[in-house]
Amino acid sequence: MTAPLVGVLALQGAVREHVRALEAAGAGTRLVRRPADLDGLDALVMPGGESTAIARLARHDGLLPRVRTQVDGGMPVFGTCAGLILLADKVQDADALAGLDTVGGLRITARRNGFGSQLDSFEADLAVDGMEGPLRAVFIRAPQIVAAGDGVEVLAAHGDRPVLVRQGGILAATFHPELTDDTRLHGMLVEMARDRVA
Ligand code: GLN
Repeated sequence: MTAPLVGVLALQGAVREHVRALEAAGAGTRLVRRPADLDGLDALVMPGGESTAIARLARHDGLLPRVRTQVDGGMPVFGTCAGLILLADKVQDADALAGLDTVGGLRITARRNGFGSQLDSFEADLAVDGMEGPLRAVFIRAPQIVAAGDGVEVLAAHGDRPVLVRQGGILAATFHPELTDDTRLHGMLVEMARDRVA
């Protein structure tokens, strides 16, 4: 079976780490910087970094609305941290993103920096639905999911907050799965891409 081709949005943030994790999980990869780079992808990763910076860098050529069109068409997407913020239908402190296109489509409300400032970054072991053994998660100025709507499945929580959710072909984490050697979540996306191709 040929490897699914997974794009990594490469405007800003933790790009190389996702490429490494996806390749370890059996995918081919492509860096995505402009709309044409989305053509023919089987899935896409939207990395963490700074959601406002990513949205600003993407605004000139309508890249994020094009991502939305492909996600609506069934392309699986995995948003991590800032990527989750850009996938959220609602962002609570929306001022920083005012006037900028995002992707949207994931029926959650996200709060940027919901766990506090950079000094409050932390790690935790998560119990993930359907996964054997704990998943080590690195949270860096992480957003919080403060509300989740219909069809949003909570796959993992930290305390009373969902931190990993899935809505159909949209997978989203408030943490950075690319910063550990555990590639199981990238593997989940690669499986979603394979299911789609098959
Ligand atoms: N706080 C960042 C933002 O608002 C996200 C942090 C991250 O991706 N590590 O985009």
